[in-house]
Amino acid sequence: MHPLIRSALGKGDPALSEYNSKLLLRAYGIPATRETLVQSPGEAAAAAEALGYPVVVKACSPRLMHKSEAGAVAVGIQNEADLLKAYDRISAAVAQPLEGMLIQEMVRGSRELVVGLTRDAQFGPCVMLGLGGVLTEVLNDTAFRVAPFDTVEALDMMGELRSHAILDNFRGQAPADRNLLAETLTAVGRMALENEAIAEIDINPLIIDAQGRLTAVDALIVLRG
Ligand code: ADP
Ligand code: MG
Repeated sequence: MHPLIRSALGKGDPALSEYNSKLLLRAYGIPATRETLVQSPGEAAAAAEALGYPVVVKACSPRLMHKSEAGAVAVGIQNEADLLKAYDRISAAVAQPLEGMLIQEMVRGSRELVVGLTRDAQFGPCVMLGLGGVLTEVLNDTAFRVAPFDTVEALDMMGELRSHAILDNFRGQAPADRNLLAETLTAVGRMALENEAIAEIDINPLIIDAQGRLTAVDALIVLRG
């Protein structure tokens, strides 16, 4: 069991926070946003300066699973004055103890994917690839594989999406890094196989930028109760 999971279970946490979820993703080779967990407005300003504006500010807690709904996300922060305002607004909106405030790079890209993992009583860990963003529910365009599977299977999975053309040269943007996406899909399956305590994984969204690079901008790892 990964130490991050052991520690969360020890504390009785229902999930890993976004920050810890992404630490685990990176440990499995999945690319995630550059980010810093901070404890004060002063630390937030220093972190944003180091990352470079624009940045995103989010409240970070293992008990905060739907951050937007809770008013805990501010994207596209352009300068220190706006950062401090967002910090205050989010602190006031989220009335619970936090692990800290997350300051992260703002990722630009019009193509959004979702990568998920659920456990099926019959089949075991099941990896899902779908379209992310506003169209997720409208399009209902998803592909599934039972883990473990190899990168050849993962490439097939991408081809099963009705909207797979967004992974190619798309509106003047470079093709998505399909090999890295394949590694990401197999790694998510491996994470569940190697960590029995993981109930669900939700990478939503995984953004594809104009250069075809992938970045997990949000991640949630839910633990078994
Ligand atoms: P939630 O817990 O509500 O799912 P997210 O972290 O996914 O919160 O943030 C909500 C939305 O804000 C995302 O779906 C994405 O569109 C946008 N967003 C979040 N973080 C970033 C980021 N680092 N760069 C660009 N967009 C982001
Ligand atoms: Mg999200």
